Amino acid sequence: MLRRTCKEVAALLVAREDRELSAVDRLALRLHLAACKACPDFERQILTMRNAFARWRNYQEGD
Ligand SMILES: [Zn+2]
Repeated sequence: MLRRTCKEVAALLVAREDRELSAVDRLALRLHLAACKACPDFERQILTMRNAFARWRNYQEGD
């Protein structure tokens, strides 16, 4: 029930940027990230992108 494929996890990581995940999704995500080698890299890429976007937005608003 908590098992997710890498494809599903990638979709959850993207969805998480837009909406709050359910408790089950968050737990499944955490379990998968702890066990998978590839998905933590993808998560890091998303976080890097989010930070870059937040900086860009701050820059725009600070003008
Ligand atoms: Zn994975």
